[in-house]
Amino acid sequence: MSEKMKVVAITGAKKPEIMEVDRPVPGPDQVLVKIDGTAICTWEQRVYVTGKFKMPFLGGHEVVGHVVEMGSKVRTKEYKVGDRVAVSVISTCGTCYYCRRGEENLCVDSYANLSEDIGMFGPGGFAEYKVVPPNKLWKLNDDLPWEYGTFSEPLACVCNSVKKADIQLGDDVVVIGGGIMGMLHMMVSKLRGARVIMSEIDETRRNLALELGCDIAFNPKDCDAVAYVKELTEGRGADVVFDTTTPPAVAAQAIDMAGKLGRVVMYSSVIPADPIPFDANALHSSEKIITGSVSPSIQSFDTAVRLLNKGLINPKKLLHSVFEKEDAVEAFETSIRPDTYRVIIKL
Ligand SMILES: [Zn+2]
Ligand SMILES: [Zn+2]
Repeated sequence: MSEKMKVVAITGAKKPEIMEVDRPVPGPDQVLVKIDGTAICTWEQRVYVTGKFKMPFLGGHEVVGHVVEMGSKVRTKEYKVGDRVAVSVISTCGTCYYCRRGEENLCVDSYANLSEDIGMFGPGGFAEYKVVPPNKLWKLNDDLPWEYGTFSEPLACVCNSVKKADIQLGDDVVVIGGGIMGMLHMMVSKLRGARVIMSEIDETRRNLALELGCDIAFNPKDCDAVAYVKELTEGRGADVVFDTTTPPAVAAQAIDMAGKLGRVVMYSSVIPADPIPFDANALHSSEKIITGSVSPSIQSFDTAVRLLNKGLINPKKLLHSVFEKEDAVEAFETSIRPDTYRVIIKL
């Protein structure tokens, strides 16, 4: 008889359920992690609200746990049994063109077989246990509050995005959107020595951004956002623009906000996925770079854990609440409120 574990799976719209499945057993090259808690991100929120995914959906990719067992062939000295670790749960093949180039966030097979070992679909963080390869774990400092460790994954996504933007000292950086991803972009851009301008319609979020070190926060409903950014930058436009929101019209604005040599990063997915008007001639004459950013790389995950472990990024104000798994409905409902940032489910 194999041992069992509990998971919080979504079985339909607004239906998170605690289910019992076989506890995974680590192979000789794998590590077994007891998950302490996992934060609810946009992916899980969307499936919770719409019920649209293969069911049962086992979400959860912002994961903290501790090491309980290491396979006989695991050789790492980076952590040991009992250590608290941040967990990267998205699998990568290690052999495709992109993995071989060290860009494994673009792996052609990254979402394959997630949680299928336990008969479910999704990244699998809302479970009591998870088996992972050793290179997907990072030791968290003992004095770091464990809840902060759940920010490793979202912060890693942001570090990947900031790397694409190549921020220079004194650059003007516009962050569109003051949700959690916007806030993290703002905080990391400040560390890179930029002046950060946030565009956000909600006053509470603007005030929090300013409290966390943002230089200027404005309401794009009160002005012509593109003209305002140009006014703030002596008519040039921004050096870097991060769009962390979904509307296509805002993506078009993001491109217009950037000045000559500007870098524009489409961080969020665009919903609905409509094409936006695009002036190729403006690119020709400005040498702007338009790019995107998706998921964390191994390198950006490493950077994110360093930033958290050293206290260089403190996510305290972005952590809203922690719920027991038995209260998963309340946890999901809280997470989809516009006034909350991260909500964690304890496992
Ligand atoms: Zn996430
Ligand atoms: Zn790959």
